[in-house]
Amino acid sequence: MKPDFRTIILILLAVLFAGQVYAQDRPTVYILATGGTIAGESQTAVTAGYKAGAVGIDQLLAAVPQLSDLADVRGEQVVNIGSQDMNDAVWLTLAARVNELLDEDETAGIVITHGTDTMEETAYFLNLTVKSSKPVILVGSMRPSTAISADGPRNIYNAVACAVSPLSTGRGVMVVMNDRILGADDLAKTHTLDVGTFQDPNYGQLGIVYDGKPIYARESVKRHTVHSEFDVRGLDRLPRVEIVVSYSNATPLFVDSAVEAGARGIVVAGVGNGNMTTAMQDALAAAHREMGIAVVRSSRIMQGPTAQWDEVDDDALGFAASWYINPYRSRVLLMLALTRTTDYREIQRMFQEY
Ligand code: GLU
Repeated sequence: MKPDFRTIILILLAVLFAGQVYAQDRPTVYILATGGTIAGESQTAVTAGYKAGAVGIDQLLAAVPQLSDLADVRGEQVVNIGSQDMNDAVWLTLAARVNELLDEDETAGIVITHGTDTMEETAYFLNLTVKSSKPVILVGSMRPSTAISADGPRNIYNAVACAVSPLSTGRGVMVVMNDRILGADDLAKTHTLDVGTFQDPNYGQLGIVYDGKPIYARESVKRHTVHSEFDVRGLDRLPRVEIVVSYSNATPLFVDSAVEAGARGIVVAGVGNGNMTTAMQDALAAAHREMGIAVVRSSRIMQGPTAQWDEVDDDALGFAASWYINPYRSRVLLMLALTRTTDYREIQRMFQEY
């Protein structure tokens, strides 16, 4: 028996209605794509000669059709770059877009795809500049999308699973990779190739993703997101901060270059507990005393604090110590600090609170 015209129309309407109910039932998650290996492509099944930031957001999402079980996913391409080229302009664009989208009631959370090289810097920047408690998750991969056992699709699935979970509210910006949930407050890339490259080497990871669900084990006690005093909305640039490294025989060469280039702040990736050669220390003390340049002592060592009151007399020199914030994240915090103050005591307070 052939269905008549009326039956066909009724079936079509029912399908349309069911589709709408389905879409409304699912939380809305935006995926903002910036490039990286997760969007990388190679002519081979391994990683040789691959290009980061080659695949667009539509192709990335098409590789994980299961996302539609979790959320109504909407993709936006912000940039498509290797994250070694990440810069202030993209950060400001990202912060503005994330804040704008999270202001909308229907947005449950945001996932940002990103290269792993500088993910710790972007995650920390957003951790201090996003003005919402809703989940913001950064995700990347160590293997390009064309590689055997590409880790990107699973990582994206897990990231969206975390973004839609009410358990993820108020935890600050997080990174989800290799089934781990990591906090932006202590994030470090620790291996050049391993899929488990990210760690929170001082505080420990926040949790794991298991069977498509986040299981949290700790929460950050540091100020972030809605508790942050920093606000970059409306800014079109950030104060210039450079990093200089200390090592045996290090001279003031790069301190002098940073000063000449107009840096408003300098972070030292010092030896041990944030120490540096006497020549570098003298040059930095002069830069602070004579030109008001803010100086933060951090360390090349991955674990442990760069503590005040040890071999360097920070108060006498006008320096601040970074505590658990590594040189790369220290640079981010000092840039934001300099949008509000140049007083080293205030900067020291920030390095203890964030
Ligand atoms: N250098 C590239 C980037 O950071 C690839 C590394 C990666 O994403 O794993 O975007």
